[in-house]
Amino acid sequence: MGLRETSDRHRRFAFWVSSESTRNSVRVLLDEETILAGVASMSAEIRDCYGDTPVTIIGVLTGSVVLLADLIRKLDMPLRVGVIQTSSYEGTSRGKLRVNSELMLDIRDRHVLIVDDIFDTGHTLTEVVSLLGKFQPASVRSAVLLKKTGRKEVDMDPDFAAFDIPDEFVVGYGLDYNDAYRDLPFVAVLESKDLAEHG
Ligand code: 5GP
Ligand code: MG
Repeated sequence: MGLRETSDRHRRFAFWVSSESTRNSVRVLLDEETILAGVASMSAEIRDCYGDTPVTIIGVLTGSVVLLADLIRKLDMPLRVGVIQTSSYEGTSRGKLRVNSELMLDIRDRHVLIVDDIFDTGHTLTEVVSLLGKFQPASVRSAVLLKKTGRKEVDMDPDFAAFDIPDEFVVGYGLDYNDAYRDLPFVAVLESKDLAEHG
């Protein structure tokens, strides 16, 4: 584990990433309490939408793991939980999207809710919705923790989004930068000097 220092006054965190011994600073955008309140409020919206209808949750690995764990414990209806994996990022730029649905549950005639960490350009969610549609579910909706402002390149929106955020590269609460930072309990912006140094 890395050494962490915090300064409440500046809301700035500095810590060592143990695997690389690099020191990167991050600026907190959404603290833990704010995130949990947002997830609770999104789960209430989801509950209102489905009522007591059983739902099959499909989490998009790896970024959704933390949201998935918090969200399913707040949803008060019969649930099945499965995962698929997508990966498209190398550093902070999008590469070719890869989707692995081998671990997915049978979703035929089921009401499916896709859970992902962030809606950025929207290409990932659009492709996942279209892929799952081929398995003949009864319905497909989507929920994300974060939606970036002004980045959308597709003709769809997530059905549920806990927070709109500015167009900055964020990490924490499941979101990574080169596989680090997923464990942070808050969402933070990685300082651009660190992106430039390590991207
Ligand atoms: P999209 O296809 O909507 O452009 O991007 C969606 C995926 O890209 C997300 O599921 C996430 O994995 C990754 N992504 C997009 N923006 C960010 C960001 O600001 N930080 C991190 N860590 N990942 C992001
Ligand atoms: Mg993702």
